[in-house]
Amino acid sequence: MKIAFIGLGNMGGGMAANLVKNGHEVRAFDLSEDALAKAKSSGCETFTDAKEAVQGVDAVVSMLPNGAIVKSVYSDAVIGHAPEGAALLDCSTIDVATAKEVSEMATAKGYKMVDAPVSGGIAAADGGTLTFMVGGSEEAFAAAKPILEGMGKAVIHAGDAGAGQTAKICNNMLLAISMIGVAEAMQMAQKLGLDPQKFYEISSQSSGYCWSLNAYTPLPGVGVESPADKDYQGGFATALMLKDLRLAMAAAEEVDAGVPLGARAASLYEDFSGAGNDGLDFSAIIKTYK
Ligand code: NAD
Repeated sequence: MKIAFIGLGNMGGGMAANLVKNGHEVRAFDLSEDALAKAKSSGCETFTDAKEAVQGVDAVVSMLPNGAIVKSVYSDAVIGHAPEGAALLDCSTIDVATAKEVSEMATAKGYKMVDAPVSGGIAAADGGTLTFMVGGSEEAFAAAKPILEGMGKAVIHAGDAGAGQTAKICNNMLLAISMIGVAEAMQMAQKLGLDPQKFYEISSQSSGYCWSLNAYTPLPGVGVESPADKDYQGGFATALMLKDLRLAMAAAEEVDAGVPLGARAASLYEDFSGAGNDGLDFSAIIKTYK
């Protein structure tokens, strides 16, 4: 297929490279020259104009920083410029309202659009092992699925437009809450004199079992190997967790959903980020309990 890829940063760079490996012809556009140079070295054809990049394509994939940028890219350079009927896949993490709005604009002009945010970080983007949660019509999902399968290990149809973003922010709000819960319990156990490794062994096989404890243990040298063992480098940055929590809080307010623990988690991550920890993996929040 002929695919335009817009936004080849930390995540998009590896995703586009995997589309090339899958035999697609990839037409890359990014505002950053550095990103375009990397895209070229992984086999993409590069463009300095988004409208030119989307000419004659079967599909457009985007991986951009936020909803405002996604909306402007799609309304200025994709809708009305990519061929009618093309599949449009926005894989960025953005607010639910903008995802629905852009999808409505695109669908009205005859495109098959999905919001398809991802679970998994840069390593999963490079390795083609992302999980995609997809919102859009059955027809749009069917068009997007084979393209997404080349970049990930799981592609799940969540529901109509915006459902992918809804799944993503609800999942990450739960993740933030569970990570803070694990951090509190581990530190309290330690202060009460329990060896943290013993706490891990017991709780990870008891009702405290959860991904944050079992698969991402936030204390160095305890439980499974995780970013904690690399001084909290790599993994999922605090800045990105905070971004997702802010999106979750905005969505909760819009539908008047009660999220007291989500709100508390968002405020704890605001403080942690404000203290200069944006670049650390989100599990480093355990340090604030010392
Ligand atoms: P990034 O900043 O590394 O990449 C974004 C790219 O978009 C940059 O290369 C930038 O130059 C480009 N860009 C910005 N405005 C543009 C425009 N108008 N036209 C064309 N290109 C433009 O960010 P990232 O880490 O790759 O994240 C991308 C998206 O993926 C975000 O929505 C993020 O929340 C989400 N995400 C990231 C991770 C992660 O671990 N990094 C994990 C899951 C989801």
